[in-house]
Amino acid sequence: MRRNAEKARAGMQRWRLAHPDEHRAEGRARYARHKERLKTQIAAYHRANPDLVRAKREKHRALRIGAEGFFTAREWRELVALYEHACAYCGAIGPLEQDHCLPLTRGGTNFIDNILPACRSCNARKHTMTEEEFRARLALEDAIVTPSTVESSDQSLLAG
Ligand SMILES: [Zn+2]
Repeated sequence: MRRNAEKARAGMQRWRLAHPDEHRAEGRARYARHKERLKTQIAAYHRANPDLVRAKREKHRALRIGAEGFFTAREWRELVALYEHACAYCGAIGPLEQDHCLPLTRGGTNFIDNILPACRSCNARKHTMTEEEFRARLALEDAIVTPSTVESSDQSLLAG
């Protein structure tokens, strides 16, 4: 058995020496196959974990603009669990994004204590407002559009 394996190895080595180009081509093909499989696996992983992808993107953005701090995927997951998977501003359940309470562009850090889970809509509307400014604005909108002043035909206003 062992002798056979040695013989096979020796045979392969002879073939490699006799066919260097084919050997290199085979190596490249194997690498390409491996790369394709790896790419598929990584893509599937990203599809299954969109929050981790967003966390990574945030990290790169923070690094790019030179913000201080970082948070881990685990810290983010713990924060989301703390908010029961709901937007910290409107309570919507769904895909959550990392909102910087004090925006990075206004000197906020990328540490987890400056991060809140926010839905796409709130995060986009908050934009460069601080958490305080955005909450004040939400409270104001709430005061203007209260159920008592809205006719039943205007319920759509509440949906916004
Ligand atoms: Zn929201």
